[in-house]
Amino acid sequence: MCGIIGYTGDRQAQGIILAGLKRLEYRGYDSAGIAIVDENLEMFKDKGEIGHLEESMPGIKGNFGIGHTRWATHGKPMKNNSHPMTDCKNEIALVHNGIIENYMTLKEELMKRGHVFRSETDTEVAVHLLEEFYDGDLESAVLKTVTKLKGSYAISVIHKKEKGKVVCARMISPLVLGIGKGENFIASDVPAILEYTDRMIYLLDGEIATITKNNVKIQDLEGNEVKREWEIVDMSLEGAEKGGYEHFMLKEIFEQPKVIQDTIIGTSLSSENGYSIGFKPDTIKIIACGTSYHAGYVGKHMFEEIAKTPTTVELASEYRFSSATTSQPLIIGITQSGETTDTLSAIRTAKKRGHDTLSIVNIVGSTMTREADETFYTRAGLEVGVAATKTYITQLIAIASLAIKMGVTKGRLGIDRARLLENQMRSLPKHVRSILSNAAEIKELAESISDVNSMFFLGRNINYPVALEGALKMKEISYIHAEGYPGGELKHGPLALVTSETPVIAIAVRDQTYEKMLGNIGEVSARDAKVIGIGTEGDRELEKYVDHTIFVPEVPHLFTPVLTSVVLQLLAYYAANARGCEIDKPRHLASALQWNDYIN
Ligand code: GLU
Repeated sequence: MCGIIGYTGDRQAQGIILAGLKRLEYRGYDSAGIAIVDENLEMFKDKGEIGHLEESMPGIKGNFGIGHTRWATHGKPMKNNSHPMTDCKNEIALVHNGIIENYMTLKEELMKRGHVFRSETDTEVAVHLLEEFYDGDLESAVLKTVTKLKGSYAISVIHKKEKGKVVCARMISPLVLGIGKGENFIASDVPAILEYTDRMIYLLDGEIATITKNNVKIQDLEGNEVKREWEIVDMSLEGAEKGGYEHFMLKEIFEQPKVIQDTIIGTSLSSENGYSIGFKPDTIKIIACGTSYHAGYVGKHMFEEIAKTPTTVELASEYRFSSATTSQPLIIGITQSGETTDTLSAIRTAKKRGHDTLSIVNIVGSTMTREADETFYTRAGLEVGVAATKTYITQLIAIASLAIKMGVTKGRLGIDRARLLENQMRSLPKHVRSILSNAAEIKELAESISDVNSMFFLGRNINYPVALEGALKMKEISYIHAEGYPGGELKHGPLALVTSETPVIAIAVRDQTYEKMLGNIGEVSARDAKVIGIGTEGDRELEKYVDHTIFVPEVPHLFTPVLTSVVLQLLAYYAANARGCEIDKPRHLASALQWNDYIN
């Protein structure tokens, strides 16, 4: 996830591009760069924030250009890896948002044909392809280039010899065109250009657009012209930064189909990239904190079932006090930021004890990635809301990918079953989208329980950590006291607290825990608790046992946490909103990065 902007018109491009990048900075900010053409192609880029670029670059003349704020996925945040990327002749400049899945194969082919690469990014292959395809017409070169790319991209391109022209293309990653008067714009998101125009065309997947100061042309991948009308965007600048959503948390919940897809692509599941990983552990220990711990707990079931590898989960802050034993599990540390102090110190302890270590991290180049022996990245982009949503969902995806690779590497999972699991994973974005389309119903339910003081979340087996995460989300943003319990544990004490005033959210999808969950639902119903059941689509039976049902599409039980968790995120969000809570900045809480000064 990153920000792209393009401009062509009569004004000086530099100021417009810099201002636009600042408005996109919430999308990612580890590096930034600009390319503008006047007589020559001038380019400035560097690691760091837009402010740094602005201060360090000279004034450059030119009426058209492109800019980028990067959120690294391939290659550390550093000058060489910053965008724009240029071709070998320094005539073409390109910025990219997304992940080019087949970049390794393309890079090898391009290098054999003499192209010299100057970055570690996946992006750079695109500019070298453009160089090969360019024969005096930038649009047709872009068209040919994008047909070679697999994965997700929003690209924007200029050529030194094609004055006043900016070409862009989109697949999965967003792009919008701003239609001005005697000037036109390209941006990843509306706020970047809303100051100049409110007339927008949202580019669709598989479309290529060319803007000049007085013209906008859109084509499909076959080169056929597509007629699209602009629409007036009715948004304030502040609202636009949240994409029209009331809170960043809601925006981030709705981004989940895309980041799941990006993470599937990023963890290189396709057989083209091979399955092997560097470890064949007999056992695994996962260490993490908070929401990442819950993801790890779901992961325990995935590793045990997919890779047939016994797995334990431990809170990072507790691991350091545990005694070293003779067993040598692979230690997997999970941390969104890669800077969580408790998890970092647990990894350091593990290394001292001689364990192999692997990290699952969202931020490229963070401390954890330097300390662990190997890293698996989630591709959630920047999370602004303090309550983790999309970073958690992508952790589930990364763990599932890792479990599949480990299963194959250890010879515990056949290739056919691995491929089947991959295909099933690839359908998850579609299913999450269908849950999100049901948000109004979840909102109504959330509002109906938003005035309680306490609630319970129940689940068994792989659904138990989902219940823990559902309760955590509820308490951290709505301040309702909430507890997650394994369905079978209630009768050993907590049942004493269940009354008509304590709603129970029961995860009762059709898996091996279903019958037992119905029993647990009976226990709480008998104490007058109002029960909301989260069940499998079409399960008419469940409706007889609970007061309300929310259904999720049927998927293999290992993947249901991805779907049920989205329901629980929405439930927490809407309950908190009904209570008028400060959702993006819950009291006493901060993102992991801010915590580091305080943890001991
Ligand atoms: N994959 C590209 C990179 O790592 C683009 C990342 C982005 O979307 O900012 O440079």
